[in-house]
Amino acid sequence: MNGLDKVDELRVAVIGSGPAGLYAASALTDLDNVSVDVIDRLPTPFGLVRYGVAPDHFKIKSVADTLRKVLQRDRVRFLGNVTFGVDLSIADLHQHYDAFVVANGAALDRRLGVPGEDLSGSFSATDFVAWYSGHPDTAIERFSLAARAVAVIGVGNVAVDIVRILAKTAAELRATDMPDTVLDVLAASQLEDLHLIGRRGPAYAKFTTKELRELGELTNADVIVDPDDLVVDDEARAVLDGSPNARRNLEVLEAWAQREPSGRPRRIHLRFGLSPVEITGAREVDGIVLTGRAGSGNTVLPVQMVLRAIGYRGSAVPGLPFDDERGVIPNDAGRILRDGVPSDREYVAGWIKRGPTGVIGTNKGDATETVRSLLEDGPGRRARASERRPDAILDLLRSRSVHVVDQRGWDAIDRNEIARGLARDAERVKIAELHLLLAAALQGQNESP
Ligand code: NAP
Repeated sequence: MNGLDKVDELRVAVIGSGPAGLYAASALTDLDNVSVDVIDRLPTPFGLVRYGVAPDHFKIKSVADTLRKVLQRDRVRFLGNVTFGVDLSIADLHQHYDAFVVANGAALDRRLGVPGEDLSGSFSATDFVAWYSGHPDTAIERFSLAARAVAVIGVGNVAVDIVRILAKTAAELRATDMPDTVLDVLAASQLEDLHLIGRRGPAYAKFTTKELRELGELTNADVIVDPDDLVVDDEARAVLDGSPNARRNLEVLEAWAQREPSGRPRRIHLRFGLSPVEITGAREVDGIVLTGRAGSGNTVLPVQMVLRAIGYRGSAVPGLPFDDERGVIPNDAGRILRDGVPSDREYVAGWIKRGPTGVIGTNKGDATETVRSLLEDGPGRRARASERRPDAILDLLRSRSVHVVDQRGWDAIDRNEIARGLARDAERVKIAELHLLLAAALQGQNESP
């Protein structure tokens, strides 16, 4: 019994085609009387699987194959290039759908709040990851990588991804889906020193051991760890006692602290207990000032580039409540709360529900919980969409001059990228420019009526 027995069909909109959105679409369409429109502001689906998972993490990237199958289900439609809050309002969703699930992630970056953060050469990880992932929001010429030394602030998996990508040779990255322009810039990089900087001790590092270990396996870089950074006090000992991941991380770091550098072209310096206080430079970054444990004075590193990888943040959706402190939409098991009260037919899943934590798989349980709430609330007890024609939403978008990229459009982009990959022995090479994505989609949609 799912509460739907008395109605022919439940029509649900899912906002966002990343893992959370598509896991929600999957759980919903496991029932045969539910249909789902998956709406995304981009002409391409898969969210952070396409634009966040590092291009050289082929195994994690293959989650896209699972998500692809969800999108191809008969009762799932893809409506790409449609911006929720601009092209469609909350009122439109209420009119056309019996319920909606917001799963648009946490796309904003967090700031350090130190002087010099806006100098040329200081960037957010969000921006840098978007660039090497070929995200149309970041101009393909945004990064030139003239730096010889870079400081990456934060010790989470995003920071580790960035350092690894920067440390690899272009030859090692050829088989990825990075756009050619990105590969060319990375190939010309003169980087020698990469500093990965944690503000607390290694026990508190957020990266997972598997990701950390990969740094030690790079052919192009030595990993350098100062044993003095690895001293464990009582508080850190308690953290280690409670966290197998932290214990494994420390073991790996301790082994590296014993290693002699072997003269590889690049050096990754893993530093702990150092907080940024200022990024220096007249117009362009020329250094970073870090403060250490009390009494140890400041450390100044000469770097020409700073990347802050200190976490993501959700942004408010027009017309929906927002918890500004946590950067999430307030909810109870996925039911959006307006003034503390579950609102009618409005749900949330993924990072915008729980904050930017966890791995891709975490979104499966998260989305399932939301779908369970949605089905428990049952359409019998609440208002339903007044407009029940599935194509009415497409007519509405057309009347607003929105060019919807549908499944055929995305398939055409997909084919185009796979064809580009042949020249590089890569599974695909991404199209990064929005106008080219739209042109490929349009051609596909015109060819197959
Ligand atoms: P994260 O895991 O939350 O790490 C953020 C890091 O930034 C922490 O080390 C944090 O230190 C530090 N930080 C925060 N504010 C700071 C400040 N003002 N100054 C200096 N350091 C500061 O975030 P993330 O790396 O963005 O990753 C987001 C999520 O995606 C995580 O769940 C991650 O595991 C996941 N992810 C997974 C993979 C993978 O599985 N391969 C890859 C990428 C991302 P404190 O602890 O001291 O706050």
